[in-house]
Amino acid sequence: MADNITVLVVEDEPAIVELVTYSLREAGWEIRSAETAGAAWDSISRGKPDLVLLDWMLPDQSGLRLLSRLRADRDFQDIPVIMLTAKSMEEDKIAGLNNGADDYVTKPFSPRELLARSRALLRRKSPHLAEAPLRAGTVTLDPNSCTVAVEGQQIEIGNAEYKLLKYLMAHRERVFSRAQLLDKVWGDHAVIEERTVDVHVLRLRKALKSADGLIRTVRSVGYMLSEK
Ligand code: CA
Repeated sequence: MADNITVLVVEDEPAIVELVTYSLREAGWEIRSAETAGAAWDSISRGKPDLVLLDWMLPDQSGLRLLSRLRADRDFQDIPVIMLTAKSMEEDKIAGLNNGADDYVTKPFSPRELLARSRALLRRKSPHLAEAPLRAGTVTLDPNSCTVAVEGQQIEIGNAEYKLLKYLMAHRERVFSRAQLLDKVWGDHAVIEERTVDVHVLRLRKALKSADGLIRTVRSVGYMLSEK
């Protein structure tokens, strides 16, 4: 999926917002949140998100009512919506789907499941957002399946190494300092040391096997991905 995907999380429980934000940032998506149906409507009116994750129970009105409002609006009726619900009752799920939800996830949900369902829904409803695979030398990175292949063979790669590789492949032939990579790959709130970058680069090179030469060390500056 493209990096510029925006997801709106409509949920009044901070812990759930945090979990969802954490889960979906893995995909490099931008996350906005709203605590009430009213705030969600304002947010959607200011800028249409690519996906809405909608809690059933909100302080001002039910998520279901917001959903109906979206589906009745010419500009917003096509926004993919996943209902987040603590309700496991079959009739509630059916009510959600009947009112235009594309999918639902029952709390408590796993971050992995939420991300997988979000990706699947975006692929189904917004195929134009799917991102082309990145290629460098013998390495192919498929952002849709989050897999990496070297000479056509899929390799084992850790999550941090995957994100690092994706960033470097998207910005090849450019040198980044450790601090820049921390900021770009791990985010502003990362509480890891710059030395950690070295550890992940080491692991990434190991994972890339014969293609390890793509990741260059630029002395006293940092790292870059270069095909030259
Ligand atoms: Ca709630």
